[in-house]
Amino acid sequence: MRQPSAPDRLKEIVLSDVPLAPLTTLGAGGTARTLVSPRNRDELALAARWLKSEALSYHIIGGGSNSLVADGEIEAPVIWTRKLDAVSISREGSDILLTCGAGVLLKNIFALSLQEGWSGLEQVAGIPGTVGGALIGNAGTKEGDISSAVEMVGSVTAVGGHATIGGREIRWSYRKSSLAEDGDAIISYAVLRLRQSTKEAVTAAARYTLGQRSAQPFGARTAGCVFKNPQSAKAGRMLEEAGCKGLSVGGAKVSDVHANFIENHDDCSAADIAKLAKLCQGKVYEKFGVMLRFEIKSLGFGRGFMEG
Ligand SMILES: Cc1cc2nc3c(=O)[nH]c(=O)nc-3n(C[C@H](O)[C@H](O)[C@H](O)COP(=O)(O)OP(=O)(O)OC[C@H]3O[C@@H](n4cnc5c(N)ncnc54)[C@H](O)[C@@H]3O)c2cc1C
Repeated sequence: MRQPSAPDRLKEIVLSDVPLAPLTTLGAGGTARTLVSPRNRDELALAARWLKSEALSYHIIGGGSNSLVADGEIEAPVIWTRKLDAVSISREGSDILLTCGAGVLLKNIFALSLQEGWSGLEQVAGIPGTVGGALIGNAGTKEGDISSAVEMVGSVTAVGGHATIGGREIRWSYRKSSLAEDGDAIISYAVLRLRQSTKEAVTAAARYTLGQRSAQPFGARTAGCVFKNPQSAKAGRMLEEAGCKGLSVGGAKVSDVHANFIENHDDCSAADIAKLAKLCQGKVYEKFGVMLRFEIKSLGFGRGFMEG
């Protein structure tokens, strides 16, 4: 694929040969030939228009906490949203409307809501990554998901226009939202509706959610759960019963703590992680006849690989 030449107005935010491993929590994978790092919605729209005019498809990465990037050179440009990090606050009666850029870290707005006693994000306490990534995958826990807080979502279309959609118009389900259906749309911001509560009440609710995390590996490089739970079963339990706990391929290892987490040891390759994930998927299929679907999103592996 040819190397696109960025227009002058985008030169500052278009970088070449950027290693992507440090932009992900797994810490594996290759290098983006072109990384676009917009700092505001207008730059994002301009970048989308430029890529469209060059007829280039692109990948999107936010906090990289749910992504496995392929090894080697990633030819298609990668849009990295982390610098879309503006937050503004307005009030509507006792409600708080938090307008967040897609690259705002969930943990930062959760910390703010804890400090101010705003209720509405306790169910996503402790989830890494950005607002954009959370909306695409409807991030959540047993206590609920991000969808319940979403008032509105703004996006940039593939042709560089701005669009909005109300939270209630979006179809939300377990680790899925209809926002992902238009593969070219890029979430640029979201308005979250929170309610004034007390610091004590928000702390208590969040503590409960955070307590559930003690069953997950702590401090390891992972991308969260590799597989979604199938209907009325736990993927982690099935993986454990299929003998996956502790399995490894190269430096990629299934966590000893929770069988639905793959850890990166010794700077393993993305290929090792992918091979191990497929091995585990096969073992569960052999034992239960159930093909687990991937929760992790793959980037740069080619169409159809690890689709969930
Ligand atoms: C230790 C650990 C614990 C975790 N626990 C949980 C949990 O309890 N619950 C849970 O739901 N998840 C959990 N996760 C997974 C992950 O944190 C969430 O899925 C998170 O919402 C992903 O956000 P991100 O910004 O990191 O997404 P990324 O990994 O950057 O991207 C994920 C997907 O969203 C797309 N995307 C990202 N931003 C945009 C955008 N602006 N516009 C369009 N598409 C976009 C990407 O292209 C990709 O397909 C955990 C992960 C880790 C490492």
